[in-house]
Amino acid sequence: DVRKAGGDNILSLSESAHKKLSRKSIIEKRLLLALDQHNLKVLYQPQVDLKTGKIYAVEAFVRWEDEEIGVVSPDELIPVAEESGLINNIGSFMIEEACKQAAQWQQQGIELKVGINLSVREFRDKNMAKFILDTLMKTGCPANLVQLEITEKFALEAEAETTIIQQMRKLEEEGITFVLDDFGTGYASFRYMQLLPIQILKIDQTYIQSLTKSDKTQRLINGIVHFGKSMNLTVLAEGVETEEQKQLLEQYDCDAIQGYLISKPVTADKIPQLLSS
Ligand code: C2E
Ligand code: MG
Ligand code: MG
Ligand code: MG
Repeated sequence: DVRKAGGDNILSLSESAHKKLSRKSIIEKRLLLALDQHNLKVLYQPQVDLKTGKIYAVEAFVRWEDEEIGVVSPDELIPVAEESGLINNIGSFMIEEACKQAAQWQQQGIELKVGINLSVREFRDKNMAKFILDTLMKTGCPANLVQLEITEKFALEAEAETTIIQQMRKLEEEGITFVLDDFGTGYASFRYMQLLPIQILKIDQTYIQSLTKSDKTQRLINGIVHFGKSMNLTVLAEGVETEEQKQLLEQYDCDAIQGYLISKPVTADKIPQLLSS
């Protein structure tokens, strides 16, 4: 009977909600421990300047394999961390690691910019800019080697706006670069571009993946590249996997690319050999 079926539905819904909740709290608990024990790892993926054909930067990605719950991908980890507030701890860890690494490469005569993914939400913490500048001092990493990547996932909330914008502008004045990541997937792009000190547009990989299959996407990407350049921005395409995609992007006068065609994200020690190849 209908009421019984409805009742079952409610039961199974709450069961899956319960499962999700407990998975979330397990991740939170294990993450706290992992942060405490420095059990997170960092991989780096090169970015290539299409004019020179040279690797000029790398993007840092968090990697986590927990001994109890196994590998937790960023796509699962980051939303949980954002909800629980632990995103600030991941941010601090990544900033410290990436700055240390960039400074170490520079000492070895390797000049590479490092990209760090941050949640805009982290800039609600009014000590964020100071933390980043202190870390530069502590690690000896020059500000102009740092590229902070933010996504347009969140609408800026009026109240938090001033804190976020002021800190980003301060960092920009100090020589740090901001990247608008996943461009074209959110709903706040133009607002972000107007309010925030963005210097690099990163075209989302979903567009790159359909590039060679669709005329419409080709016109769209060609347009985005020209739009970006007319705004005085550097335009980078992420998720480039094929020579064909690369050639189209070159044809559109895109500035830089990143993706499996060049290299998957790798440990820091693998980067020097990629530079010479
Ligand atoms: P994102 O910043 O847009 O990074 C691009 C993602 O695509 C990365 O996945 C990267 O490994 C993957 N990728 C790179 N090249 C290719 C390619 O040619 N083909 C395909 N199919 N994929 C490619 P990952 O590392 O799993 O990260 C996913 C997302 O999680 C990132 O998207 C970023 O938003 C977030 N994330 C990763 N690491 C961090 C971090 O340390 N902090 C924060 N806040 N977010 C992070
Ligand atoms: Mg990114
Ligand atoms: Mg992206
Ligand atoms: Mg992404």
